[in-house]
Amino acid sequence: MMQIDWRELEKKLKKEQKGLRFQHTLGVAYTAAALALRWDVDMDRARLAGLLHDCAKCLSDKKKLEICEEQQLEVSDFEKEHPVLLHAKVGTYLAEADYGITDAEILSAINWHTTGRPGMTRLEQIIFVADYIEPNRNKAPNLQEVRGLAFQDLDRCTYRILQDTVDYLKKNPKSMDRMTMRAFTYYYNLLYPGTQGY
Ligand code: FE
Ligand code: FE
Repeated sequence: MMQIDWRELEKKLKKEQKGLRFQHTLGVAYTAAALALRWDVDMDRARLAGLLHDCAKCLSDKKKLEICEEQQLEVSDFEKEHPVLLHAKVGTYLAEADYGITDAEILSAINWHTTGRPGMTRLEQIIFVADYIEPNRNKAPNLQEVRGLAFQDLDRCTYRILQDTVDYLKKNPKSMDRMTMRAFTYYYNLLYPGTQGY
């Protein structure tokens, strides 16, 4: 693990992220650190991934699309319509290019933090979960239960978040990122093998 100047890093992020967004960033970083202690993952890597997970969130949609074009990052039609989704992909790029992160698992934790993916690593799950449960969050349903699960059963927690996300997206925009559905199906089958549900 490289030496990290946490104060410097937080200072840089605070400049990029105003008010509540920066509070969310710190919340994810510390929640991820706590989960890392619980699930035997390196605490500093989890904290670092947590700090950087939304590093592209405050860029304008135009800027995000520009970076994708410049860097030849693939943009689906769905992402073109909902550029906010690109903050994970663009954030992965910036984490490497601007923040010097070379740790592939930290980068992929940033990349998949919004949608999840089938077969996430522990670190990826921790960031996915921390993003959802950090203390400043208060809108999602079942938060208390999900927060408890995060420290009891990480797969079940991941599944619950995906389930609530899929339910939410079904009721709201017309479609959802296909990866969210794939991740949901994967964790459904992991927890309920041999059933016919999905
Ligand atoms: Fe995000
Ligand atoms: Fe976030």
